[in-house]
Amino acid sequence: VTVLGIESSCDETAASVVRNGRDMMSSVVLSQIEVHQAFGGVVPEVASRAHTEMMTRVIEQALRDAKTTFSDLDAIAVTYGPGLVGALFVGVTTAKSLALATGLPLIGVHHLAGHMVASALSHGATPPYLVLIASGGHTDLINVLASGEMVRLGKTRDDAAGEAFDKVARAMRLGYPGGPAISEAAKRGDPTRYAFPIAKLPDGPFDFSFSGLKSAVMLVLDKEKRAGKESSIPDLAASFQEAVVQALCAKTEAALLQTGQQTLVLAGGVAANEALRLALRARCDALGVEFVVPPVALCTDNAAMIAAAGYDRYVRGLFDDLTLTGVATASIEAWYAAPATKQ
Ligand code: ATP
Ligand code: MG
Ligand code: FE
Repeated sequence: VTVLGIESSCDETAASVVRNGRDMMSSVVLSQIEVHQAFGGVVPEVASRAHTEMMTRVIEQALRDAKTTFSDLDAIAVTYGPGLVGALFVGVTTAKSLALATGLPLIGVHHLAGHMVASALSHGATPPYLVLIASGGHTDLINVLASGEMVRLGKTRDDAAGEAFDKVARAMRLGYPGGPAISEAAKRGDPTRYAFPIAKLPDGPFDFSFSGLKSAVMLVLDKEKRAGKESSIPDLAASFQEAVVQALCAKTEAALLQTGQQTLVLAGGVAANEALRLALRARCDALGVEFVVPPVALCTDNAAMIAAAGYDRYVRGLFDDLTLTGVATASIEAWYAAPATKQ
């Protein structure tokens, strides 16, 4: 079964051909980073326009790289949400047009389900496992059962982990995207220089909160500036990163202990963070739990993960019709239960 995946939920225009949910025949990812850099963050209108300009070329390239034509395909999978609604429309409209023109079945894929199955492409990972998704818009602990069903154990109450990296980087004038800039600066810094708070949420043992931490970093920047001192960006970056890593590790370890899961999958753009990978691996080793993290190119947004998630739907015979549309706040629980257009 060969699936074409299309992704345009944020600032990456991507297309990929994947066979049987495992074999990546091609994966084209066109990042808009340079387009948005001048603005210090993703500008939704600019993203939609860039997707529109590049989408057809990206799909053609993915088919060419895979030495495939539409007649070799079995389905078209596309991210329908969550994300920037105008950006989602570009991918969904393109996928619908192609499905109509070719007669191929259409599959709307939840973006986070895509992040979760990236580990199937790199490691052949299959449920049951616990997943920590740490990305630009989400920080979720999800328990995926042997049946493939999922239970979300925890989520962020405010900022996502990646969002905290991006906002703190902006305050430090490190530019966008913040994650890579902070982890780079942190390499030269002392993580014990500042003791930043880790949010304790007694009524949500697996929930996260990063906005207090973000404010604490900004407060230090502000205080030192007013005292006429120049802040040590490397020390601040290292201390901030350490606090994020400790928060993610503590909640994930608690969830592993409660669920008894023997495998942890790390997913989402923040999974590119080296300090986080090392810390989670050490915890998993100590617990005797297998730790699975895809290579960076599969952690950040790509269409191979969308094609792989689409394959899982194909096997279960779950398809969408041409009423499929972009949904900014699509719920993962609802998507797991039914196709996007039948919710
Ligand atoms: P979502 O998947 O929740 O819809 P998104 O698609 O924008 O959001 P991703 O593309 O998965 O998010 O990840 C992007 C995020 O990952 C950004 O916030 C970025 O700062 C962060 N990130 C990337 N590399 C690193 C790194 N080395 N360390 C920390 N964060 C990183
Ligand atoms: Mg992105
Ligand atoms: Fe993402």
